[in-house]
Amino acid sequence: MNGIRDARSYDLDALRERVLPETSGSVTESIPQLADADPAQCGIAIVTVDGEVRRSREADAVFSIQSAVKPFVFALALQDTDRAALERVGIEPTGEAFDAIKLESGTGRPPNPMVNAGALLTSSIVEGRNSDERAERIAAGLSAFAGRRLHVDEDIASAEQRLGDRNRALAHLMRSEGTLRVDADDAIGVYGRACATIVDAEALAVMGATLASGGVNPCTGEHVVSREVARDVISVMATCGVYDGSGRWMREVGVPAKSSVSGAIVLSVPGALGAAVFSPPLDEQGTSVRGHRASAILSDDLSLHSFGVPR
Ligand code: GLN
Repeated sequence: MNGIRDARSYDLDALRERVLPETSGSVTESIPQLADADPAQCGIAIVTVDGEVRRSREADAVFSIQSAVKPFVFALALQDTDRAALERVGIEPTGEAFDAIKLESGTGRPPNPMVNAGALLTSSIVEGRNSDERAERIAAGLSAFAGRRLHVDEDIASAEQRLGDRNRALAHLMRSEGTLRVDADDAIGVYGRACATIVDAEALAVMGATLASGGVNPCTGEHVVSREVARDVISVMATCGVYDGSGRWMREVGVPAKSSVSGAIVLSVPGALGAAVFSPPLDEQGTSVRGHRASAILSDDLSLHSFGVPR
């Protein structure tokens, strides 16, 4: 199996040292808490589908998960609706930024669950009678993916709510199309809390590994989502996970992944492993520069590329 045997002895500190000298990119200024991030930070973790965990230095540095939450919220929405969520959100890549004010033409649905419009929608259809219950369902589901109880940073959650004007615009646009069926503020609040969930690279790698092992957390053995759901989610990560950088990512890294504005990237290699890199400076598409570089090297070293023929 690609990757898994070599992953168990892979030297993540050496990989970290290789990417640390890369100093291009800039830290987001979307909210003050993210703007304050230390641009020198870099943490990497790998978790195999048989539960082996490897970490670099700073793999325990904490950050808000931001858009790396989107695959997992999509997974919970699919699980809770018996996959009927697939009728509520598109699955085509947009070629546009994560917060583009654009819906699928003809249907008014969000284009896919990996952009903000899609995540606002998926977080509104997880199980729960009101926004508090939906937020709690997401918190519990994310914790099951990570194998430990995750917490929300309340300051970040309220900054998301206060400063999320584009998300507010998207929610109202979907309301006007009839595709968002909850109150716009409720949708923004639940999605904002999901983005404000605190993780470290190790927790995020376990989450990626849970998808990679068909929905079973390889560290706790918990069945979090079905195999079909995990496959659906990884497929959409592959095509849409890095926004308008998804094509370049697929060529250079070749692994289904999701980027985020905090500088996190989560990777899922079905049947092999999950991985996560956290380093705040971002490129033009909002992808962590060191994260992209580290993922490309890892993919090469462990023969993880989906379309590469092993040597
Ligand atoms: N919370 C951020 C937002 O909704 C997440 C965006 C991202 O990580 N790309 O704008």
